Amino acid sequence: MSDDNKTGLEEMSPDEKLIRAEFDALLQDYLNSNHRRKVELITKAFEFANQAHAGVKRRSGEPYILHPLAVARIVCKEMGLGSTSICSALLHDVVEDTEYTVEDINNMFGPKIAQIVDGLTKISGGIFGEQASAQAENFRKLLLTMSDDIRVILIKIADRLHNMRTLGSLLPAKQFKIAGETLYLYAPMAHRLGLFSIKTELEDLSFKYEHPQEYAYIQERLEATEANRNALFERFAIPVDRKLQSMGLKYEMRARVKSAYSIWSKMQTKGISFDEIYDLYAVRVIFEAQQGVDEKTQCWEIYSAITDIYRIRPDRIRDWVSRPKANGYQALHLTVMGPDGQWVEIQIRSRRMDDIAEKGFAAHWKYKEHNIEEDTELDKWLHTITEILENPNPNALDFLDTIKLNLFSAEIFVFTPKGDIKTLPQGATALDFAYALHTNIGNKCIGAKVNHRLVPLSHPLASGDQVEILTSRSQEPQPEWLNFVTTAKARAKVDYALKRSRREAAREGEQKVVELFKNADIEPNTNDFDKLSLYYGFPKREDFFYSVEKGETVLSESIKKILKEKTDNRFFKYLKQALGVGKGPLVDLPPVEDEAKEMPHYDKKRPYVLREEALNRNYVIADCCKPIPGDDALGFINDDGNVVVHKRSCPIAMRLKSSFGERILSTEWSSHKTASFEATLEVKGIDSLGVLSTIAKIISEDFNVNIQRLLIEAKDGMFEGKIKMKVHDVEDIQKMCVRLSKIKNIKSVGRVAE
Ligand code: MN
Repeated sequence: MSDDNKTGLEEMSPDEKLIRAEFDALLQDYLNSNHRRKVELITKAFEFANQAHAGVKRRSGEPYILHPLAVARIVCKEMGLGSTSICSALLHDVVEDTEYTVEDINNMFGPKIAQIVDGLTKISGGIFGEQASAQAENFRKLLLTMSDDIRVILIKIADRLHNMRTLGSLLPAKQFKIAGETLYLYAPMAHRLGLFSIKTELEDLSFKYEHPQEYAYIQERLEATEANRNALFERFAIPVDRKLQSMGLKYEMRARVKSAYSIWSKMQTKGISFDEIYDLYAVRVIFEAQQGVDEKTQCWEIYSAITDIYRIRPDRIRDWVSRPKANGYQALHLTVMGPDGQWVEIQIRSRRMDDIAEKGFAAHWKYKEHNIEEDTELDKWLHTITEILENPNPNALDFLDTIKLNLFSAEIFVFTPKGDIKTLPQGATALDFAYALHTNIGNKCIGAKVNHRLVPLSHPLASGDQVEILTSRSQEPQPEWLNFVTTAKARAKVDYALKRSRREAAREGEQKVVELFKNADIEPNTNDFDKLSLYYGFPKREDFFYSVEKGETVLSESIKKILKEKTDNRFFKYLKQALGVGKGPLVDLPPVEDEAKEMPHYDKKRPYVLREEALNRNYVIADCCKPIPGDDALGFINDDGNVVVHKRSCPIAMRLKSSFGERILSTEWSSHKTASFEATLEVKGIDSLGVLSTIAKIISEDFNVNIQRLLIEAKDGMFEGKIKMKVHDVEDIQKMCVRLSKIKNIKSVGRVAE
């Protein structure tokens, strides 16, 4: 069907005439809208699609191009979208059904239209495959394209609507499948987007193909009862008309019969017969807004007029004007006792509200200025939808609400290998997913396969991922798991498991200590346990037992000797205090590991400390705790006769003090500020762009200190950094900690020994 040579209608084939007539109708619809006039672009898209689909027929026998043309008309007239959407609708089947590619579309129509056509091509072919995995894959595509551009979904709905309108020409098996899919997916989606009349039509068409007999029955009953209904309505309407006209209102009042599908649904869910449905129809009053009077006031004036005539049912007033429904629906609903003793529902709306109810947010455009730029308007519309979707109606948490939640809020949508859907917060990892399935699966999790690819437990999931969890019976929750669980549930479970295993280990450790006491012929008692754990540097007994069990603390054979050492209670009290106070913000205590560390290495050439008592000695700063001016410190005379300066809270110093009390000197810091001291800060936080440079900038510029070494390790989205630098005194450090802890994404800052 070539169109090279069209000189006049006479020379066109009947098909060609049909096509041209449809295109003209589309242009007419478009010109009647308030969109900017981009007739040329639309014409170009049509001509291109027309020649691309040339010669191809639909199953019904009509030229194929009539389908994209019809979809474009729905997009334009029934949804109110503009040229970008109209062109995309015209081109929506070109990539899938012809030789042309997305690149071709891109070259001819630009990236926006190409992207939409690409999205449409990807989600075509049905949402539900034979297998659940296919379902997951299709969902993924759907979701990904949805989040790119909502127009993909709108055009897809239009495409589906036209296919449903022409479903009769397909084979029954296919009809059945498409109808089910429409009812399950497309109708709720249309509803969600406020496309009320499209939603109703999709439902009715689906119902017609899925339950042809019931559909026919309801249609037949509706026809049979029509005359009676009309008479009822007329009796109802006469006094209302009189009243409203006397008020000088411009309005339209009509009876609106429920759709076949909603009648059937009601019969099903309530288990009632057709004749038992009392609200078969509602009366709709649509008024033209008066200048200078707000719509809400007018709604209530009409309400007042009607309730002057008929008795109201007070429990059935619905004010969707003051508080519109989530999909934008606005109207004032009331139910009154009609003249025949039947309840009648009345829906009062302005013309604008009615348009919105029928067309959804697309209708808003009609009330805007002329020459709308589609993209900016669409952005605004999308923004409105986004806002609504962020405050979901808790009563309507159905399938689609789940989709939209994941699209627009901080949630993702993940599938099990069988295609079941799990909702997780954005940033959730494979381990979170494992715990979402079951605590035992989480606890025994060793890895995961995401989209059939092996990933670590820390792997962040994305919407649409299919996740299979690998477990091992010997697995136990690990402390580092806390770095990459994001959900409260998983964190609590890991925490609980860790604490439990730690308690168990501590109990085992305690048994070992008890044994040791028994072997040494000492009656085990908590007082001595406390002494011993403090001796090894643990303020808490349980930590000491745990360390014993894990082999981190090796108990000396001579417990007796340790316990007998001159250690009065005051000393222990002081030690406890020192450990508590000296800890500072989030600083871990330096570990007391081996005897080698007891005698710190030092550099004799660095006399940092002034002391009163031993002016002629050399001084070094202890490597274990690195005190700086301002710290409470003490000096220890080592075997070489030099003084090693420790923090008073340093566990090593405590041990030295208890064993070699006579070698301890008191020290004071010199007051001169020129000297600089080494200190190390540990910074932990969330690994994010710019956070490291912010840290470095604050330290070097704001504080004018010299960074000697910066060691940053990032893992699983977290980072841990050690910053070694020269400072003047403790005040420098404190100020810096306060300043650094205010940086976004920094979770802890503290001074550490090394
Ligand atoms: Mn199509």
